[in-house]
Amino acid sequence: MTRAAAPVRKHHSTVRAILRRLEAEYSDVTTALHYDSPFQLVVATVLSAQCTDARVNAVTPVLFRDYPDVESFLKLEQRTLERYIKTCGLFRSKARNLLAMSRMLVEEFDGQVPGTRSELMRLPGVGRKTANVVLANAFGADTIAVDTHVFRVSRRLGLAHGDTPAVVETELMDILPQSAWSSTHYRLILHGRQTCKAQRPLCDQCPLTRWCDYYQRL
Ligand code: SF4
Repeated sequence: MTRAAAPVRKHHSTVRAILRRLEAEYSDVTTALHYDSPFQLVVATVLSAQCTDARVNAVTPVLFRDYPDVESFLKLEQRTLERYIKTCGLFRSKARNLLAMSRMLVEEFDGQVPGTRSELMRLPGVGRKTANVVLANAFGADTIAVDTHVFRVSRRLGLAHGDTPAVVETELMDILPQSAWSSTHYRLILHGRQTCKAQRPLCDQCPLTRWCDYYQRL
């Protein structure tokens, strides 16, 4: 029986070239979600699960106008919150999680969004990806939140090969300089949305072909 060849790790000069090209393509990067506080960022990020950032940004202005902070969220009824967020998908479970999260923030964290991954991941509805987004944007931490775009694009490029977001996150943290973690996360998302699409990647329009494992196998 022949054993499958182990994936080849990209040379650091290739990684640097990919990062430079991504930076040239997508210079100014941050989360597309609109928010005015760490609490609003957590809420928006929870709402963004299986929903577009544009849809979340269409919903949150009215929600945050009427309920801007954790104290006001405590006054929300489940049904009322569902009406605000019903176009975001999974709105019942998201509403349930956001109300439970608000209670936990007040009861256990003095009403403040905690600044460590382990504490964030205790909050209902907050997984590792959401925690990483919050740590990067609210606390300036270096993180790589592996969403569907980061997972797909980094594997196609050959920056990572793992079968789960957690493994891909570890591989990316290993191969990328720490100072590039957060910005590369956003650039891979943008590249996945605009060019390296899930069903049919637009390789003929992609500036990364010469370094891309997927393209080299075509
Ligand atoms: S060459 Fe194709 S598969 Fe590779 S990153 Fe670009 S769009 Fe994606």
